[in-house]
Amino acid sequence: MLAAQTTAPSNLLVTNGRVCTFGETPRLIENGAVLITGDAIAAVGDSQALAAEYPQADKLDAQGMLVMPGMVCAHTHFYSAFARGMYIPGPPMADFREILERLWWPLDRALDAEGVRYSALTPLIDAIRYGTTTLIDHHASNRFVDGSLDVIAEAVTETGLRACLCYEVTDRDGPEVAAAGIRENARFIRKARAAGSPYLAATFGLHAALTLGDDTLDRCVAEAESLGHNGFHIHAAEGPADREHSLAAYNLRTIDRLAQRRILGPSTIVAHAIDIDAWEMGLLRETGVWVSHQPRSNMNNAVGVADLPALLRGGVKAVLGNDGFSNDMFEEMKAAYVLHKSARSDPRVLPAGQLLHMATAHNAALAASFFPRPLGRLEPGAFADLILVDYDPPTPLTIDNLAWHLIFGFDGRRVDTTIAGGRVLMRHRLIPHLDVERIYARSREVAQATWERFWASS
Ligand SMILES: [Zn+2]
Repeated sequence: MLAAQTTAPSNLLVTNGRVCTFGETPRLIENGAVLITGDAIAAVGDSQALAAEYPQADKLDAQGMLVMPGMVCAHTHFYSAFARGMYIPGPPMADFREILERLWWPLDRALDAEGVRYSALTPLIDAIRYGTTTLIDHHASNRFVDGSLDVIAEAVTETGLRACLCYEVTDRDGPEVAAAGIRENARFIRKARAAGSPYLAATFGLHAALTLGDDTLDRCVAEAESLGHNGFHIHAAEGPADREHSLAAYNLRTIDRLAQRRILGPSTIVAHAIDIDAWEMGLLRETGVWVSHQPRSNMNNAVGVADLPALLRGGVKAVLGNDGFSNDMFEEMKAAYVLHKSARSDPRVLPAGQLLHMATAHNAALAASFFPRPLGRLEPGAFADLILVDYDPPTPLTIDNLAWHLIFGFDGRRVDTTIAGGRVLMRHRLIPHLDVERIYARSREVAQATWERFWASS
């Protein structure tokens, strides 16, 4: 079911907060309040004034905590949750191709319906805990394709978060699996559109340039066109393997090929875009794609460093994802902050303000393109997706130095309260609507069974 969550109180006033609005003109309102009506923000302002104006509203006392929009993750893989702690037989994986062939592809093939369910639920619980309220997922479970996105949608609905889902079409497991992937995207795009839920959206997923032949890409474009759907979500240029494959098989660099096959456009998300040349970067800008950056994953896979400063300088719509690493977007920001300085041996590269703008304004604009209201800003009319952060800084905090506080002082564990669509999902770090202990216990059993299938296939 894609039913909307409608258990939000009609009026909820979050009082006594240090309200950071983000949005076009970011403000820090000391002793501020946010009035929530239904699933949207109705007013933002002075705490006493709003309390006097709306005496009937239910109150949620922020106790001086920082009140800010929930974070958005531009690219993740819920299914990667089961990789945590998994033994991978054989010598250490030597390059990205081996990481794909020996870890990710056999893992996704080992997932059944229950594996998909629990490997979605547990990172979604992490997202609530770490204050990430909207996630753009990229899913693969090549032995359980049809209906897999419904299983994830149910998990999203259960947790109360907001997500945009898709299935990673690939040729790596043969034509049947590729056809099933196309079918699953098309089915779920139609279903999400018909349901019109403000919590669930769909796009068309493609695994990666290096596992998709031209025929399949053309079929995906034709299918998307027949649905009237714009935009894809694909991995591209995630290291030299993609370029080498593209040049050997098609005599084209990766981004050139995707442009030629009409995959790029203003609604497409290209994850990584690391191994690209100046002309490919120009194409990313001209076609208006979203380029998602995942620094922790890139460092872990040793695939190189995206030229994020140049992408941003050129006006490319760069966004921040986590690639399934963890749903603590504050940690991802920290990684981005230090990675580019280190890679360039220049501490001036990627200033905190620029990074914060990318991770909040850009990510929010991408998320809002999938949903019917603005996101990632505390202002009337936006979705009431907000977090309370227990942060008592030892140095002055202003709207102008907020970015440095976020990078040097924050982490997801400071998030005390998470609200999505006006519904309180976590309060004082407790998640009352989910039996987290039971979900984790079952998740461990399902992960063990998944690992055994993985080992049996290795
Ligand atoms: Zn990814």
